[in-house]
Amino acid sequence: MPRLIHGLFCLILLLALAACGVQDSDATRAETSTAPQSLTETTEIPVIPTRRSTSSPAPAPSASSLSAIPSIYDETIPVTRAERITISEINLMLEAGQLLMETNWDGDKDTPLPLRPENFNQGNLQAYIEDEQADEQDFTIPAELESLYIGAEATTEIESLLLTAHGEYLAYLEAQGVLPLYLEEVRRVLPATLERITYHPENDPTAPPTAVESLQISDERKDHSQAVMNLYPVDIFNGAGGLEEARLLGEPPTGANEYRTYHRQLRDMALRQLFWHEMTHVLQRAYVNLHVEDPAERTRKSSYLFATHTLFKDVDTQYHWKWGNGFFADSNNKQVSDESQADGIAYEMLTTLYDMSDVQKAAVWDHQFGRLDKARQNLNEIRLLFEQNYPDFTPEEFGDLLAEVMSNYPQNEGRRQLTTIAFRLAAIPAYIGYLNPMEPDDTPKFWEALRQE
Ligand SMILES: [Zn+2]
Repeated sequence: MPRLIHGLFCLILLLALAACGVQDSDATRAETSTAPQSLTETTEIPVIPTRRSTSSPAPAPSASSLSAIPSIYDETIPVTRAERITISEINLMLEAGQLLMETNWDGDKDTPLPLRPENFNQGNLQAYIEDEQADEQDFTIPAELESLYIGAEATTEIESLLLTAHGEYLAYLEAQGVLPLYLEEVRRVLPATLERITYHPENDPTAPPTAVESLQISDERKDHSQAVMNLYPVDIFNGAGGLEEARLLGEPPTGANEYRTYHRQLRDMALRQLFWHEMTHVLQRAYVNLHVEDPAERTRKSSYLFATHTLFKDVDTQYHWKWGNGFFADSNNKQVSDESQADGIAYEMLTTLYDMSDVQKAAVWDHQFGRLDKARQNLNEIRLLFEQNYPDFTPEEFGDLLAEVMSNYPQNEGRRQLTTIAFRLAAIPAYIGYLNPMEPDDTPKFWEALRQE
């Protein structure tokens, strides 16, 4: 079994969900990123990035004029192919769905699944348990890199970069022709201040997911039209690991100091990409705010239900599911699009603002999204299986039912791990978005919507 690792993913607490808010939890750091490579794995001589060859086209003017980010353009990076991974909870759901075909379960969410843990492939269950246990180790920042993430100096540096990245995000939007009213609203939803953007310098592999959340305005009340952002080192470290595997900056140097310098650059890239993903959730919220006519409605969590336009309905619906009887279809499909767009826009910005070559762009795509091919196929199978056989069932309910089955797993530790894995399926709409990032060919539609009132 390939390892399943936490991703650079967040939950979209701010944007989430229908009035019930049942999925407003942090149980869902999607498990889809790569582990950082061991530093000793390579002994090859580091590749010195080369300058742009004279025959290649000039960069888009937007790339260099928008920010002070130095170009990393290189057509000669080593070609790598990401290991294809699967995701335990997706595998588990697919196997359960296939097993259900042999039973008389009728798709009623109040009817327990007529399954026992013994019905499942025992080797697979064991592998999921082991992956879960390996996670903590993989997500701990190693001692030699810790000072790049933890401590006063790193914190000051990272906080400063977050504020810079906020400016870069708005400048990029402006260059795309996004109307000033949206830019202003983004600044209102999440101003560039450390009171609202918080970095938590803890080396904790079980930290909550990096997320944009609604602004707390009193003990009981939140203003969902405004946001705070919380960022955790583990998500940045993970992102940096994936970029290292993609060899964007060539092979990692073997010397300790050189490797630190190399990793620092990857850290900054991963931080920006994570931050821009989150900022896209801020933008999605800003867009909803401005399309809800009654300002009093804007502070509500589910205000998108009253919006005359939303980015999730107006831009892309190709990854949306039917969601059974459809009661929560809008809420679920909103999460699908929110994550798909956030990943696609952050990818576009990363590759554009760092002035990457086509080879580098392809490497990032493969290591972040290509490696999820198999998981994506499994998810599509799940969709077909449920839509065809249980058309009234809403798949986001499946996690609870499956956790109930796994609570009968005979061994204590395994039972805990398997029920945890199953419960993550409550976030299946977000997974669909992560596994189907908005593709570069589709982002022009996104920008076009933001050029209209
Ligand atoms: Zn997100």
